[in-house]
Amino acid sequence: MRKKIVAGNWKMNKNLPEAKGLLADLTAKFAQQPNAEIIVAPTSVNLQFAAETVKGSAIKVAAQNMHQAENGAFTGEISADMLKSIGVETVILGHSERRAYFGETDALLADKVATALKHDMTVIFCFGEELEERKSDKHFAVVESQLKNALFSLDASAWKQIVLAYEPVWAIGTGETASPEQAQEMHAFIRKTIADAVSPAVAEEVSILYGGSVKPANAQEIFAKPDVDGGLIGGASLDAESFAAIGAAI
Ligand code: PEP
Repeated sequence: MRKKIVAGNWKMNKNLPEAKGLLADLTAKFAQQPNAEIIVAPTSVNLQFAAETVKGSAIKVAAQNMHQAENGAFTGEISADMLKSIGVETVILGHSERRAYFGETDALLADKVATALKHDMTVIFCFGEELEERKSDKHFAVVESQLKNALFSLDASAWKQIVLAYEPVWAIGTGETASPEQAQEMHAFIRKTIADAVSPAVAEEVSILYGGSVKPANAQEIFAKPDVDGGLIGGASLDAESFAAIGAAI
């Protein structure tokens, strides 16, 4: 059975006292075993604190990014080994903001994925089309090529460590959400593409999250779609009440 996951990407928000407050609220709100795996991704300086705080709770911690090299002269960067050494086993890679503002390409992401997998980490791999690409009906081709370039050379066994997050760029932080039907249509396409390119078993097992302006008010109808296995949440993950409501909507 596919895993249900609700993950919160805090981006560059929450200093240490704020992160402490949010984590305290979240551990209380998710005290009963939730129906989904709950993940939070604080900024890197708060990862160690977060990883220690959630020990023994239903919440896991993910990093928002990671460098592809093992170590070395890469000022400002963080390695897979460093993340693992503080108890962080999951990393978000390929977020549209990393692609747009930090020049991350599919080829670079393929390297980052390979490094994360070598360290036995779980990767939440983000991808999705821009507004112009959807308007010109290229969204399926764009998504297929993002997946192909970064993931399709992986061994079928490596897919156990991959979670996909389809995030149409036009729906991120805009208040504009893909309709549940648009999300389902794309998720079904992604699963079929993986079935053809990797294997039907991998396609059936991989969790595909939807991301883009998910809120307590729309989470339930999006999560109800058969190929949507949860969500990657930005803005609404910064408030314990709304993130808990989204977590409960699955
Ligand atoms: C995101 O950045 O991954 C995201 C989905 O953001 P938001 O929920 O704010 O649209």
